[in-house]
Amino acid sequence: MARYRGPVCRLCRREGLKLFLKGTRCFTEKCAIERRGYAPGQHGKKRTKMTDYGVQLREKQKVKRLYNLLENQFRSYFDDAARKKGVTGVELLMLLERRLDNMVYRMGFAISRREARLLVKHNHVLVNNKKVNIPSYLIKTEDVVSIGEKSKKMVMVERALEQAEANGVPGWLALDKQNLSCKVVAYPKREEITLPIKEQLIVELYSK
Ligand code: SF4
Repeated sequence: MARYRGPVCRLCRREGLKLFLKGTRCFTEKCAIERRGYAPGQHGKKRTKMTDYGVQLREKQKVKRLYNLLENQFRSYFDDAARKKGVTGVELLMLLERRLDNMVYRMGFAISRREARLLVKHNHVLVNNKKVNIPSYLIKTEDVVSIGEKSKKMVMVERALEQAEANGVPGWLALDKQNLSCKVVAYPKREEITLPIKEQLIVELYSK
């Protein structure tokens, strides 16, 4: 299936919460969820009771959209998580968090995961001093992610760092703002992923 290229605020409105897909705008009153906090479309304002399947499906769609993934990519992460020894839902979130585009976003080098993906694909990002342009590249602890020398003055990076300063960088990352590099000190614990995700619903959906 092709990547969604329509208005991203519709995705937040569909899921009924902020997915922070647009960067700075998400923190202002211009956010579509603040102004029209109901589902898009003609029947968006109608309250309908969802089936268990509907609830599980929405949870999966929410997480997939949050991390900007296609269905087959998301399913493949789930299959990998299911093969691991830990709790499948938590392992799934850990794999998603370890993606390079997500790390670049969490480190504050990009204002949204979509911008982070662009930064990575356009060769602006280094991992352990080597260029990596694969957004799905899985980061390990002790890896150092940095912005290339020529890209350090980019307006989008400076803007993102300002926003990150306001929001704060997670404690499992050690950001060196001077050199625009960041070390992954540890993987996040489940409680450190504060987004309202009920991963168990995704496990139930895929286990049918
Ligand atoms: Fe979602 Fe951001 Fe649009 Fe608000 S502004 S609806 S959080 S993408």
